[in-house]
Amino acid sequence: MGNKPIFVTRPSLPPLEEFIPYLEKIWESRILTNNGDCHKQLETKLKEYLGVKHIALFCNGTIALLTALQALRITGEVITTPFSFVATAHSLLWNGNVPVFADIDPITFNITPETIEPVITDKTTAIMPVHVYGTPCDVDGIEKLAGTYGLKVIYDAAHAFGVKKDSVSILNYGDLSVLSFHGTKTYTTFEGGAIVCHDEKTKDRIDKLKNFGFAGETKVMECGINGKMNEVQAAFGLLYLKYIDLYIGKRKAVACRYRELLKDVGGMVMLSDIEGVWHNYSYFPILIDKNEYGMSRDDVYEKLKSKNIYSRKYFYPMITDFPMYKNERWSDDTTLKNAKYISDRVLCLPIYPDIETEVIENVCQLIKDH
Ligand SMILES: *Cc1c(COP(=O)(O)O)cnc(C)c1O
Repeated sequence: MGNKPIFVTRPSLPPLEEFIPYLEKIWESRILTNNGDCHKQLETKLKEYLGVKHIALFCNGTIALLTALQALRITGEVITTPFSFVATAHSLLWNGNVPVFADIDPITFNITPETIEPVITDKTTAIMPVHVYGTPCDVDGIEKLAGTYGLKVIYDAAHAFGVKKDSVSILNYGDLSVLSFHGTKTYTTFEGGAIVCHDEKTKDRIDKLKNFGFAGETKVMECGINGKMNEVQAAFGLLYLKYIDLYIGKRKAVACRYRELLKDVGGMVMLSDIEGVWHNYSYFPILIDKNEYGMSRDDVYEKLKSKNIYSRKYFYPMITDFPMYKNERWSDDTTLKNAKYISDRVLCLPIYPDIETEVIENVCQLIKDH
């Protein structure tokens, strides 16, 4: 191990020589972007792999979130979570919406029908829940609530690639689901993203919106954006898809090892697998309670850092602590109390397919010795 820094994630990459033939084809075709061969193939392959009806590929997840909001013409207030990566809320502000934050469940870390309902107003038009760490939201409850109030649901599914509930892709819930294929995510195209939708008409609208709003060679129907995924990204996605089951399997083994080694540590909480859920093990969050464990989350973070191990405080600070989201509606310590509790205690430990066993053991030993 030596002094090599250990980061919270490290992407696994297929052998470089396997990527060369894809590049040769692109060089030959001279088609670099705009729905080329690799792009078409990747949409087909991802639909099969994920078990979804329609998918539209994007240059990144954030532009995909924005386009999803545009596709459904979302205006007014949108209810979302304070416990996520900041891009979730940023997409709402960029789209001119008012983000409204609901508290999270202390077990799943997701917003729930029970926390969403009290913050619905007559200006609410949509809900943007996040399947945080790939743990499915209460999708049935949210669907019911959205039905009752006539709200659209766009899931930020950036963490949820490949996640299934009762053998059904979690991406099949809500009106739209948005994926991120960023380099730190479980399935990656360096940068990239996608919107999953359920009907041809919406897919067509999204495809136009991501291509400047063009509907044919000379007609522009909407104020679209450039959200296209290029051929090199799509080619890499095709190759990565061949390895994804292997990588997720390795992640699962890492999670199991952590759970085994840390199971008797007092004052520390880990997530468990949920019955009927097919997890992707993208993150390994733990909660550290200073009173019970004896050291704070920040102390553990610093201790690991001093050994060249870089865990991450995902998600601290909460989104509502950033200046553009501060608001007296949720500034007291009780409105978002679970989110604050978890944000103050969470630490994500290094997890990636090729992490060495001795690194896992070393991390666990450092957490145990205190
Ligand atoms: C990564 C991430 C995004 C943004 O995706 P990009 O592809 O990096 O733009 C959005 N939401 C969540 C929850 C994320 O983790």
